[in-house]
Amino acid sequence: MPELPEVEVTRRSFADRIAGAEVLSASLGKPLRWPLGCEPSALVGRRVLRVRRRGKYLLLDLDQGLLLLHLGMSGSVTFGAAATPAGVHDHFDLHTSQGLLRLHDPRRFGAVVHARDESDPVARKLLDHLGLEPLGDDFQVENFHAGLRQRRSAIKQVLLAGDVVVGVGNIYASEALFLAGIRPTTRADRISLARARRLHGAIRDVLARAVEKGGSTLRDFSNAEGQSGYFQLEAMVYGRAGQPCRACGTLVRQLKQGQRSTFYCPQCQHA
Ligand code: ZN
Repeated sequence: MPELPEVEVTRRSFADRIAGAEVLSASLGKPLRWPLGCEPSALVGRRVLRVRRRGKYLLLDLDQGLLLLHLGMSGSVTFGAAATPAGVHDHFDLHTSQGLLRLHDPRRFGAVVHARDESDPVARKLLDHLGLEPLGDDFQVENFHAGLRQRRSAIKQVLLAGDVVVGVGNIYASEALFLAGIRPTTRADRISLARARRLHGAIRDVLARAVEKGGSTLRDFSNAEGQSGYFQLEAMVYGRAGQPCRACGTLVRQLKQGQRSTFYCPQCQHA
């Protein structure tokens, strides 16, 4: 599943190149998770002003309106010369004066949704519940800690829920909690400001490094989680149950939280 770093890498891969482009035509393949919400022909003549990201959504600001794009479980976006006709798994093509933006999505959990602007109920339904942007300026230790104080669930679950801070997926949550020395089962509202500060730094660090290494994770988009080259090589705990902790040598443990696997070091991480 594409995680926040991969979405950010995708954004950077075409944001500059598509800026200023005029939409020449748009076409749809099979139905995606949500309908486009307008006739594709209504996009013709619009200009793409910029590409932003919010959580795992790419936001294409048009001179009139907005496209929200989500990669779902298996989606990937390319932008370049229109070399080939749309294939069986290509479900959205946006031909522009500067190239073709194409969404390839075999499992079709992704979507492209048109909205008037971010205050449009269509956009608000998708974006309103999202927590702080982990790589953005609003993600400060104090408001992160304040958000955690409102939650009684296990910290790992709170991170995954995305309503305090967005985009910390399963791998990144396990890794960040290891770096912060926090046991994944610790209740979020019992985490001190000092520990929240360490976790805040760890989340930023893990995500920023993943963005930096994005080229290698990008190729593994369609693989199951944990299969990405970067984390196979560098994970401290994720996917390493029964192997010695890279910091202390204690065997890494695995447990289930919700439906998801969590990995931690019982020596390095404290409740
Ligand atoms: Zn350890």
